[in-house]
Amino acid sequence: LVAANLVLANEGVLDGFGHVSMRHPENPERYLISRSTAPASVTRDGLVECTLDSEMVDPNAPASYLERYIHGAIYKARPDVNCVVHSHSPTVIPFANSKTPLRAMGHVSGFLAGHVPVFDIKDQFGPTDMLVKNNDHGDALAQCLGDRPVALMRGHGNVVTGPSIQISVHRAIYTEVSARQQLQAQALEGPITYIDEAEGEQCNEMIAATSERPWKLWKKKVGMG
Ligand code: MN
Repeated sequence: LVAANLVLANEGVLDGFGHVSMRHPENPERYLISRSTAPASVTRDGLVECTLDSEMVDPNAPASYLERYIHGAIYKARPDVNCVVHSHSPTVIPFANSKTPLRAMGHVSGFLAGHVPVFDIKDQFGPTDMLVKNNDHGDALAQCLGDRPVALMRGHGNVVTGPSIQISVHRAIYTEVSARQQLQAQALEGPITYIDEAEGEQCNEMIAATSERPWKLWKKKVGMG
C-alpha cells in the first residue's frame, strides 16, 4: 500500500491530494489507508485502520483523509474490490465535465471498454465543495460506480477499483494515459476506433496475467524494487 502511494505520485496520478486504500487482508469489514498526508509522504507507520463506515478503529490514531468515505462505501458495495484509488488525475477531468465519454484507447486500458459512469454530486446534494465527505456522499458515488471498475467525478476527479493493489494501480495509471490519448486522437481525422467490449474483456485477462511486470518497474522507479 505504501508502494502504491509512492508509485501513483511518481507517475503523475496523485499529487498533493488523492489517496489509495486496501481492504484489510484479515478482516474484510475493514480497510487500511494512510493518515492524512500527501501520497508521496505516506509511510508504513502512518497507515490507519477504518471500518466500512469509515470510522477510525483506533480513536487515538492520527486522522485520515476527509474523503475516506469514498473507500468505505465502495468496499461495502463491492465485495470483489480490494483496492480503491481516488485521484484528481488531470487529463480525466475534461471527460468528467463534458459530454464526451471516456473510452478505451489501447489494450492496456481495456478495462475502460463499455460504460464509464460520471458521478455528479450536485444531482443529489446540490451545490457543494465537491468533496465526498460523509457516508451519504460515498454511497451515492458507489451506486453510480455500480459494477464498473472506474467512475469519473464531475469537477473533481475519479475513482478506480480492482481486485488487487497491482491491478488498481495499473488501472489508475492507464485511465490517465488513455484520457490523454483520446484527446490526442480527437485532433486527428476520425472516426476514432476504440477498444470494444469483447476486446476489452480479453485485454483484461491479459493484464491480469502480466500485472506483476509493470508493477515491479514502477516500484523500482520509487526505490522500492
Ligand atoms: Mn478528492
